[in-house]
Amino acid sequence: MAIPTPEAGRWPVFGHEWAIQRLKRALNSAGSNGRTARLSHAYLFLGPAQVGKTTLARAFAMALLCTHEGETPCHTCRSCRLFAQDSHPDFRFFQPMAKSDKELVVDRQKGELRGEQAEGLIRDVALKPMEGRRKVFLIQDMQNANATFANKILKTLEEPPAHAVLLLTARHRAEVLPTIVSRCQIMELRTLEHAEVAHALQAGWQASATDADLLARLSGGRLGWAVDQLHNPSRRDERKTHLEALWRLTSADRLERLAFANALATDRDNQARFSLLETWTSWWRDVLLTQSGSRDACSNVDCQEQIGQHARTIQRTAVFAYLGTLKRIEGYLRHTVNARLALDVLMLNLPSPGKRDQ
Ligand SMILES: [Zn+2]
Repeated sequence: MAIPTPEAGRWPVFGHEWAIQRLKRALNSAGSNGRTARLSHAYLFLGPAQVGKTTLARAFAMALLCTHEGETPCHTCRSCRLFAQDSHPDFRFFQPMAKSDKELVVDRQKGELRGEQAEGLIRDVALKPMEGRRKVFLIQDMQNANATFANKILKTLEEPPAHAVLLLTARHRAEVLPTIVSRCQIMELRTLEHAEVAHALQAGWQASATDADLLARLSGGRLGWAVDQLHNPSRRDERKTHLEALWRLTSADRLERLAFANALATDRDNQARFSLLETWTSWWRDVLLTQSGSRDACSNVDCQEQIGQHARTIQRTAVFAYLGTLKRIEGYLRHTVNARLALDVLMLNLPSPGKRDQ
């Protein structure tokens, strides 16, 4: 996600202020030899998908490489300019790649960090920096590292050369080998406040106030997700399609629901199923919030009339139970239980207006 160039003295990051302050202190503490007890040789950024882990890690890398060596990247030195152009020779970025050479499509969710990437990293870590006195290695999505990758980089994490700083990202601590976690400084990022996301969308990406409010609510505090939606009309159309299907299916009969489950099960794109579950979950959460008198906290503010209608005509217990079903089905789909069966359950359990006995 490209971040707009910030004003002088600021990191190119929105939110996560406590983390920035901590990293700035580490930068300040780095003495003339580049290493002190406080600047660690490895950091692990944890947090939900698209919350800003890579953005923060990149900003930190930029500051580490800036030849002015302050606590904020200067954005003017040769190093900062090379970094902004994605061509800094002392910055290396590793992302999950296709699992085999036969797969052409690289999908971050499905790909993995492979052994040969670790070998490249190890060779590169040993070489001296070309521009300044540091080299920074950013490894994204450690939860997708295969065992060979993880084991190969262990020794580097334990005893990296003095010029190297390794930045890792992952969703959950539990998804990373404990031996890797224990060798890193942990930076656990939290989701942003609604107002922070809304402000960032307007200030950084020129979103309208209405779009910014809606996307901030839907994002659950994940700015990267909101920016992605803002820039990809297809993603927003997808949400609309999911909501229209929900609205139609709540009044549909068994046959129509099963036909929909079948179509969804045969779709080869697993991501479409997860995006449907995410959208539907936010909808039913809103119905529940409206029933509890907390309409202001709703996410789908552009559909409040229909949400209100569901809130009036569907039993609260049914809504609550269905939210549980959505969560369960997501787990089933992640662990590749029979998708068709799981989706049948999802469709048949969908609450219907007016059925008070549910
Ligand atoms: Zn600079």
